[in-house]
Amino acid sequence: MKRNKLKTVFVGLTMTLLMSACASDGASTKESSTAKSTESSVEATSAASAQEYTDPSELKDEYDVVIVGAGGAGMAAALSAKDAGMNPVILEKMPIAGGNTLKSSGGMNASETKFQKEQGIEDSNQLFFDDTLKGGKGTNDQDLLHYLVDNSSDAIDWLDSMGITLDNISFSGGASVKRIHRPHDGAAVGTYLVDGLVRNVHEKEIPLFVNVDVKKINEKDGQVTGVTAEIDGKEKTISGKAVVVTTGGYGSNKEMIEEYRPDLKGYVSTNSEGSTGDGIKMIESLGGAVVDMDQIQVHPTVVQKTGMLISETVRGEGSILVNQQGERFYNELETRDNVSAAITALPEHYAYLVFDSALAERAKQVDFYKEQGVVIEGETIEELAGKIDVDAKTLESTLTTWNKAVKDQSDTAFKRETAMDYDLTKGPFYAIQIAPGIHHTMGGVKINTDTQVEKEDGSTIKGLYAAGEVTGGIHGQNRIGGNAVADIIIFGRQAGAQSAKFASEVK
Ligand SMILES: Cc1cc2nc3c(=O)[nH]c(=O)nc-3n(C[C@H](O)[C@H](O)[C@H](O)COP(=O)(O)OP(=O)(O)OC[C@H]3O[C@@H](n4cnc5c(N)ncnc54)[C@H](O)[C@@H]3O)c2cc1C
Repeated sequence: MKRNKLKTVFVGLTMTLLMSACASDGASTKESSTAKSTESSVEATSAASAQEYTDPSELKDEYDVVIVGAGGAGMAAALSAKDAGMNPVILEKMPIAGGNTLKSSGGMNASETKFQKEQGIEDSNQLFFDDTLKGGKGTNDQDLLHYLVDNSSDAIDWLDSMGITLDNISFSGGASVKRIHRPHDGAAVGTYLVDGLVRNVHEKEIPLFVNVDVKKINEKDGQVTGVTAEIDGKEKTISGKAVVVTTGGYGSNKEMIEEYRPDLKGYVSTNSEGSTGDGIKMIESLGGAVVDMDQIQVHPTVVQKTGMLISETVRGEGSILVNQQGERFYNELETRDNVSAAITALPEHYAYLVFDSALAERAKQVDFYKEQGVVIEGETIEELAGKIDVDAKTLESTLTTWNKAVKDQSDTAFKRETAMDYDLTKGPFYAIQIAPGIHHTMGGVKINTDTQVEKEDGSTIKGLYAAGEVTGGIHGQNRIGGNAVADIIIFGRQAGAQSAKFASEVK
């Protein structure tokens, strides 16, 4: 396959592009996003692995399966549709592939995996199901959830078979055991995953076009026929026997956030610029149903100036949260909604993540946070306390009490039970000031376990499939960290298989 040599863009950008400021506005123009990305690409070349996209001149009028959106769900769908013998295409509106997937910083939840077994971690699909249902306050779509947990181990093997190995396992909030699977060195999952998926997409010669903004899903007699997209300001119709919508959520669309959750007006967002809810709107206009649209996850640890997420890995590896008085105030490993509410209830509405240099070595993301200038460092606890204007004696006493809790494996103050493997004793010590920000839109279009899009009456739209953050129901009222990456891989894969089956049967 010929690729565009002139417009080479970089997928494996440094964390600068991936996790940087994203208090973006859904109305941002494509020109501005292109310019920003190009600028970042240039900055990022040293750590970038060059990935090229398909030359625009190669875009055909017709494919078996048209996939809208090149995040994790879209690429998983494409790979599985190709494996099923179909000829898929991926259309991406931004100048690079990856979407929110590229930004994902923690990992992917899965149960009963070969890596858990090798590492002596006892887990079960039932426990994964129960933890998720508890986290979602019992409101999750249980059919989707069963499909997710039952196929999670296989998804880890599938990724591994493509050279995407997630064998470093840690805790995430709301999980009773170590379940979040990360790259071997503990690095952020997003860059590694997207790089690996794009590599496989290229190897399997699946065309992936960027700067193709899909505006409409076309339908005739109740069956989809393809899409209409805008390319270089011109409209083009691309036919497909099946369409898979993997356009992600709407965390960067301020109007939609305000429409569904007026109380979140003005919150910073951790999301990528392309997360503007396009797929939801296109599917709604075809009569597709939506669920849980007011369920928007606020993440507790976001740097307010830039919208940069501080990964749950930092808490999962053992950090604590302290208030401006230097005291712990809550179980840090509680679910995101509860931790966010506890921070918001503080008089200052912010808190500090406090950790030591041993943790910084285990959680590689910290190097990036240091580069971004958000990590405050003190050789001693006293020096750190001075820098964050906290009483030194109180902070020392908080850390002494915490380290004893780790030693005794008993947190009498806040009943934390997980992520207590390591104490915080090795200087230098660090603090990052954080507060909650918009992070994940849990609502979206309604699908069944075959990823078919459903209407209000339960009937399906023939040939239309959806997967990933564009869909709703699986997470219920609160998503457990690590479950979105599981969702996109497991249901993306399923969408590819089911759309391929449908396309192969269309006359
Ligand atoms: C900072 C951050 C960290 C996270 N960390 C984790 C984590 O560690 N673990 C976890 O489980 N989850 C995490 N999440 C959530 C998770 O990353 C996302 O929910 C998931 O990656 C969404 O994948 P997706 O494929 O559905 O959508 P995306 O990856 O967002 O991809 C959708 C793509 O569709 C494109 N698109 C949109 N509209 C159109 C259109 N009209 N035409 C063409 N293309 C279009 C977008 O530009 C985008 O590239 C994190 C999220 C963020 C923001």
